[in-house]
Amino acid sequence: MDLFEYQGKQLFAKYDIPVSTGEVARTADEAVAAADRVGYPVVVKAQVQVGGRGKAGGIKLAANPDECRTHASNILGMDIKGHTVEIVWIERASDIKSEYYASFTLDRAAKLHLGMLSAEGGVDIEQVAAETPDAISRIHVDPVDGLDEAKCREWVVAANLDAEAVDGAVDLLLKLWRCYVDADADLAEVNPLILKPDGGVHALDAKVTLDDNSVFRHPEYSEYQATQVRDEREEAAHEKGLQYVGLDGYVGIIANGAGLAMGTVDIVSQVGGKPANFLDIGGGASAEVMTGALEVIDNDPAVRSIFINIFGGITKGEEVANGIVEALARIEIEAPIVIRLDGTNAEEGRAILEPHLSDSLQMQPTMLEAARQVVELAQARGGE
Ligand code: GDP
Ligand code: MN
Repeated sequence: MDLFEYQGKQLFAKYDIPVSTGEVARTADEAVAAADRVGYPVVVKAQVQVGGRGKAGGIKLAANPDECRTHASNILGMDIKGHTVEIVWIERASDIKSEYYASFTLDRAAKLHLGMLSAEGGVDIEQVAAETPDAISRIHVDPVDGLDEAKCREWVVAANLDAEAVDGAVDLLLKLWRCYVDADADLAEVNPLILKPDGGVHALDAKVTLDDNSVFRHPEYSEYQATQVRDEREEAAHEKGLQYVGLDGYVGIIANGAGLAMGTVDIVSQVGGKPANFLDIGGGASAEVMTGALEVIDNDPAVRSIFINIFGGITKGEEVANGIVEALARIEIEAPIVIRLDGTNAEEGRAILEPHLSDSLQMQPTMLEAARQVVELAQARGGE
């Protein structure tokens, strides 16, 4: 689960990582009251789980209550890349001498933790990685050995920060490492990490992702779960007991089995399309489950066509076919559907579907052909 910046900073503070003091506010009045306690100048920061808030106008300095009220009023309710701002974080403004980038994350391919540090901070790190990869100092950390001070210092020195920032950065990064490990984080990112004119090194932003599987040993994380931003499509799907993950494309996907669903997402991408979701309907394929799955997918306004990819195993082809036919009799689906049905009793299943085929319900013998057709149909209907 992803934390808001303020939650990340509150977590950092528990590990003694220097952050600015601040308070959460949900209205302009609350913002001004918070700023009075925090002390001017303050920064009014939009709390949304998306980067680039600064560029979007979601981060403003305020020198007095009037400015604070104006900025808080403008930022609350603002839409930043599809996320509505409901909370602002009011913190004491910092003076900045230099902005750096620092993070710990998992390098799954290397099976190690990865630390990244750069003197080019405050900007998009993906851009730095693409344009000047040498500007990022990387360190792999073995989970068993951990990160000691000597290794951390070597890493910091290689990053070419200002000389006066080195000691503070080593200290902060060792604390960030402790936080990353003890809190069971998958990501702890500080962008920017700043050097202040007084020589202090400080976390000015916080992006933290916690491992949901670790909640059992952190009961206090239930508080974070309560503030998770949920995808409406995922909410609807999970209520129906479906394994659904929302994606940002236009081809709706229904498959039985997580492996086949992933394979379907891949093949749709491979033939040039963009999947709108991952959906695994599991073992059975009753009319109830199929109806629910089709409803969830057809309610997604981005969906232009639907790919039903079923491989019969214990669930026989005719059961799947009957489930689809019955589901389509119950609900009106706007997007054209392409079916691929294979596996146990596929012939029987296809024979059941045959009389129902039309322009809006087509069938293909293979996964590849079905993927091509479903993408073509989507693109003809404006999918992009
Ligand atoms: P992001 O744009 O969503 O990554 O938000 P950040 O919290 O990283 O802030 C973006 C930028 O706003 C930073 O890189 C700083 O340049 C600026 N900024 C944020 N807080 C302060 C502050 O306390 N003082 C000053 N001078 N600038 C700030
Ligand atoms: Mn940032």
